[in-house]
Formats: sequence, C-alpha cells, structure tokens
Amino acid sequence: MLRLGLTGGIGAGKSTVAETLTELGAVVIDSDRIAREVVEPGTEGLAEVVAAFGEDVLDADGALDRPALGRIVFADDAKRQQLNGILHPRIGARTAEMVAGADDDAVVVHDIPLLVENGMGAAFALVVVVDAPVDVRVARLVETRGMTVEDARARMAAQADDGARRAAADVWLENAGAAGALREQVERLWHGRLVPFATNLEHGNAVPVPTEVVPPADDRELVGRRLTARIAVAGGETVRRVEHVGPGAVPGLPAPDVVDVLVEADRPGDDLAAALVAAGFPRTGAGRHGSGDPGRPARVLVLDGKSRRGAKQAQAIVDARDRALRDPGRVAADPAAVRTEVALP
Ligand code: ADP
Repeated sequence: MLRLGLTGGIGAGKSTVAETLTELGAVVIDSDRIAREVVEPGTEGLAEVVAAFGEDVLDADGALDRPALGRIVFADDAKRQQLNGILHPRIGARTAEMVAGADDDAVVVHDIPLLVENGMGAAFALVVVVDAPVDVRVARLVETRGMTVEDARARMAAQADDGARRAAADVWLENAGAAGALREQVERLWHGRLVPFATNLEHGNAVPVPTEVVPPADDRELVGRRLTARIAVAGGETVRRVEHVGPGAVPGLPAPDVVDVLVEADRPGDDLAAALVAAGFPRTGAGRHGSGDPGRPARVLVLDGKSRRGAKQAQAIVDARDRALRDPGRVAADPAAVRTEVALP
C-alpha cells in the first residue's frame, strides 16, 4: 500500500486531482469530510462538543453551528486544544479504519487542504501538491464558487505560501492551463510513479540506484530534508538521529542522483524495518533499505546506536560529511576524493 498526501491552496485544483485519482483507482480519503462526519447529529463526537462548549454551538436543527463554535475557540488556545482533543482522535480512528479497509496494493490518497500548514507531509510516503497562479485561482473561485475576489484573496493569504508548499512537495502539479492538461499530468503520475511505487511496496522491491555522477540538482537539500523527516516520523521513539549523508548531502558536489540516509536507532529490529517499508523504503538487506519510489532512488543505512561499533560507525559517517561541508574549496578541487570519503559503507 502506498499512502500519499494530496494538498494545494484553495482553488488550485486539489478536488479535481482527487476526482481523477479516484477514477484511476485510488482510494481517496477526504479529511474535511471525515472532520464533518465525526460531529454529525447523533454522533458521540457532537455530544462531547456540546458537553464541552454548551448548547449554543448547535443550530435550530440540532446540527453543529460551525461559525458559533469557531467564535468560541478562535481566540482561546485552551478551548481550541480542548476541541482538538475531542476531534483529532475520532478523525484519526476513522481514517485508520478506512486505510485498514484498503487492499495491499492500493494507492491511498489523503486529501488534506492544510497538510503544509499543519506540517503533516512527513506522515506520508509521498506528497503531491497542485498549484496554479493566484490570479487564476481567484478567477476560478469567483466563477465557479461564487466567492468575491476579496474573500478568495483573504483565504489565500491565510494559507501556506509558495515556498512552504514547494519545500513539502515531492510532486508538483501545475494547473495554470486547461483542465485536460492537469488530467494528463495526473494520468502520467499514476501510471509512471504511483502504481509502480505501490507495487514495489507490496512486493518489497526497491528501485535501482543510479551510479552516474551528475551535477547537483537545485532541490537536493530539500529532498534530503523531506526524506529524513519522513524516516524520523516512521521510526518513532527508538530512533536517535536521522541524517542526510553521502555525496548528495554535500552542496555543490556532483554525485549520483540518490538520497543517502543514515538512521541511528536503539536496537533496531523488525518493527523499525516494517515502519520504514510502510514509509516507502523497502528492505534490501540487514540494516539496509532502498526506495520504492521510481521517481526517487534512496539508500538507508540503519545502525544500532546502543552498540559501540554502530554508534562509532554512525559518527564516522556524519563526521566525514561535516568535514566536506566545512571545506567547499576541497569539494571543488577534488570532487572524486570527497565522494569517496563521504560514501556510505
Ligand atoms: P480546490 O479543491 O483546490 O479548491 P478545485 O479542484 O475545486 O480546487 O478547483 C476550483 C474550481 O476551478 C473548480 O470549480 C474546478 O472545476 C475549476 N478548475 C480546476 N482546474 C481547472 C482548469 N485547469 N481550468 C478551468 N477550471 C478549473
């Protein structure tokens, strides 16, 4: 199973992408819909909200009056936390139930409007962002949802900016043009990356690691940050540190296009290995994982920080990287030697 997060600013085309993915066979889980479902009339969730905030949060029909609830929690952190304490576990449980119902080879798409704002990207094996220029988004919202220009702009101003979305995105879908062009991008993504990725995870296959030395891509550091964050979240408490290492972690150093990651964990075992697989990194050997993503080869080395040997080896790998970071002159003068020094064992 491949679990990916789908997001985009309001009016960018996220719902359109979710519809296309559903048609192609994805299991789409709509976080907004679940957030509404858990407080529908007759639910325990709604009863708890009323018990906490009073009957005034109900409208004449006995349904949740969102603006009224919003006024109560908007300016009060403690109350907002109290509300989240009621909603989040229920949303989480319902989401988990839907994920559990999906097939082993499924592509599960979590449709989350505020994924970037809430820093949730690392919880998924892949993040897909759909975007369009602000003016285009405003025009579409005015045309199709009857919003005013001011309202549309105000909502966009309250959302993540372009830089934050770019940093979170493994896949960037540009929806500035015709709807057909977006559909084509989604179909290409589905057949070329998502289905093979899900199949790789189902069968435990990692994609091949390239060996050809290429000039560093502009986003290499951001990619490293995304992958390490993902692995840290998947690994949980036993993980002491996760580092982007190897030639690709050295700015300016030409290197094969592969992300090397070092994980130092306390007595890493089958649980950690399984968590890494679910996060997109199939096992390739003892303490070794690769990437299931055809668009992003990776190598993950897991060392035991509780053993002296493991901790020492981890430190040596990090030290070699840091020496290269401190000496850009040497990186430029003798790239081949630096590549050898920082290479993963
Ligand atoms: P979001 O879910 O990101 O807020 P939607 O997918 O609902 O955005 O798109 C906003 C509106 O713009 C919808 O009415 C949709 O049909 C329309 N739309 C989306 N993409 C295009 C496009 N490429 N060309 C024209 N209209 C579009």
